[in-house]
Amino acid sequence: MECPKCHGTMQEKTLSTLSGSVTIDKCVACHGIWFDLGEAEILKDKWMSEHIDDSGTILSKQHYALRDIDCPRCGKPMTPVSDPKQKHLQYETCAAHGMYFDAGEFTDFKYETLMDYFRDFIFAIRRH
Ligand SMILES: [Zn+2]
Ligand SMILES: [Zn+2]
Repeated sequence: MECPKCHGTMQEKTLSTLSGSVTIDKCVACHGIWFDLGEAEILKDKWMSEHIDDSGTILSKQHYALRDIDCPRCGKPMTPVSDPKQKHLQYETCAAHGMYFDAGEFTDFKYETLMDYFRDFIFAIRRH
């Protein structure tokens, strides 16, 4: 898969969790992370986000301003989202496919917050 921000290659990484294994896609160039919706849903219980996220590269710093991107799965424009509780956190979502985080954004989520957020997010999508 191609990174929606820098068009670098995204590599699949498989994480083991108590609920089974989860595959995410991580960009080798800017270290952005893509979650498919189903993948995000599996993520719960014990899971360490620091295994997959890091502080990013110089490229990823430029990406914070780049919000106008297309979904790597369907090519449709993604919706920029800001967390109302943590305004510095911004990421992009496709309601049908998943969400994209810049490198470094992910570690800003506390573990519990992140899991709550995914649940709320998936719930919100399902209501549509
Ligand atoms: Zn990238
Ligand atoms: Zn999509």
